[in-house]
Amino acid sequence: MCIRNNSILTDSNFRDLGVAEALQRALRAEDYLTPTPIQTQAIPVLLTGKDILGIAQTGTGKTAAFLLPILQRLAESRVATGPRSTRALVLAPTRELAVQIGERARAYGHHLGLRHAVVYGGVGIRPQIAALSRGVDLLIATPGRLLDLIQQGQLRLDRVTHLVLDEADRMLDMGFIRDVRKIVALTPKERQSLLFSATMPQEIGRLAAELLRAPVRIEVTPAASTVERVEQRAYMVPMPSKRAFLTRL
Ligand code: AMP
Repeated sequence: MCIRNNSILTDSNFRDLGVAEALQRALRAEDYLTPTPIQTQAIPVLLTGKDILGIAQTGTGKTAAFLLPILQRLAESRVATGPRSTRALVLAPTRELAVQIGERARAYGHHLGLRHAVVYGGVGIRPQIAALSRGVDLLIATPGRLLDLIQQGQLRLDRVTHLVLDEADRMLDMGFIRDVRKIVALTPKERQSLLFSATMPQEIGRLAAELLRAPVRIEVTPAASTVERVEQRAYMVPMPSKRAFLTRL
């Protein structure tokens, strides 16, 4: 889906949504001039501190929809984080998504002077321990490595004021829901919580009910699905003929 396609852009701008000047400047540098529908709906709500249940796929602009207000609120309340601690936590199912969110946080937060870190499994833990030692404002993490760091005494979650679960349905598919519940239980009850999911299986509905307080529900669907734009055909071809068939095609 093309996010710049005019048909899915709204006519408000980021200033109208209450986005701070320092963030607007970073957005201009990224060439984001017009908020997407989920940004238009979510940003003002999140800036007031409310919880959100977002039903949205990747490609809708959901990352900026949650990062911009959280970064803004973190920048407004300049509380010292303390060592081995974080004020905002974003949970993502995969390393790729975590890295991507980290890159977005770096771009949007360019003028804010906040500290962020990204932690995930499958790589050495020592650099991550070092990154957390002085504390961060925003931590983006996959659940397994996050629990490892907590169990090793390298991170505590009792200062978390903002919690985001991104792609919750994929977390469920990947078997992370128990870990997620353990992590949520370590955060203070008094916090702003956001849950994003492309689909809403029952288990995610239950998790949302446990996690969110009087959430505003925001649902966006991509403007055009692949099926409408791309002609698709299937050919059943026996294994030995596949190469010749493809060449002809
Ligand atoms: P996401 O759904 O968060 O993965 O975002 C999809 C893509 O759209 C990413 O490449 C973003 O950098 C880009 N994007 C998000 N918001 C905007 C915007 N308001 N204007 C232009 N591009 C955007």
